[in-house]
Amino acid sequence: MADKQYKQLGCLDVQPSGGCGFQVRAETEAELMQLVATHAKQCHKLDSIPPEMAAQVKAAIKTVPVTV
Ligand SMILES: [Zn+2]
Repeated sequence: MADKQYKQLGCLDVQPSGGCGFQVRAETEAELMQLVATHAKQCHKLDSIPPEMAAQVKAAIKTVPVTV
């Protein structure tokens, strides 16, 4: 049993009024940004994440310990 550090982000952390309950976890920030981009495309019709939103996303990323 070991604790791993995961990056976690929820749509509500970026857009509190958005009403989207999507939450994602990944091992690295790069992986997380990719998952967020995919979600943004599928659910929010964003073909790409604007730089200001990417900055908001990065600011909202939390590091959480996960026991694996
Ligand atoms: Zn969302």
